[in-house]
Amino acid sequence: MTRLILATRNAGKITELRAILADEGLSHDLVGADAYPDVPDVKETGVTFAENALLKAHTLARATGLPAVADDSGLCVDVLNGAPGIFSARWAGRHGDDKANLDLLLAQLADIADEHRGAYFACAAALALPDGTERVVEGHLMGTLRHTPAGAGGFGYDPILQPEGETRTCAELTPEEKNAISHRGKAFRALAPVVRELLG
Ligand code: IMP
Repeated sequence: MTRLILATRNAGKITELRAILADEGLSHDLVGADAYPDVPDVKETGVTFAENALLKAHTLARATGLPAVADDSGLCVDVLNGAPGIFSARWAGRHGDDKANLDLLLAQLADIADEHRGAYFACAAALALPDGTERVVEGHLMGTLRHTPAGAGGFGYDPILQPEGETRTCAELTPEEKNAISHRGKAFRALAPVVRELLG
């Protein structure tokens, strides 16, 4: 069985990707980056989601000699010309402070009317082989931004993103409902045939 490494230490992401690959009929041995503690941390120096996902996948593939998968994601707001974008996790200055990021974004958009509050989550999923071969695909979840947060599920900007055709925010969806429509779900489902093409 071909081993495939996922550039994350997040157990939830590994479980989610395992399920998606299995649904697509792939039976690769998927392990998280934790299994390879000597792999260096990657500085996300890219300026697009795709560049950052590829950087992470190549670093892992080179360091381990195994095929590697990585993703990079964020929220893109129409009136901010796509920001926070690649800066989504550190929009308020400190990496990973979800509440501060969300509060700052809501304050910035306070005067923006409903019809101009379009936004989407984006995710780039990359596959890199030790010989340098690379593929990258993207998935999007289109929606609009609420004025106040709603819902206790999910993470990050989920409480303010209402998907197109929904009356609830992402934080009010069940994990299954969100995975079925999410940018990450779409990107990884699009990556599955690419994994099959390159790795069998
Ligand atoms: P990363 O791909 O783990 O680097 O995520 C970047 C940041 O984008 C996260 O910290 C969140 O702020 C935001 N983000 C990415 N995907 C989602 C999502 O599904 N829901 C809410 N926020 C997200």
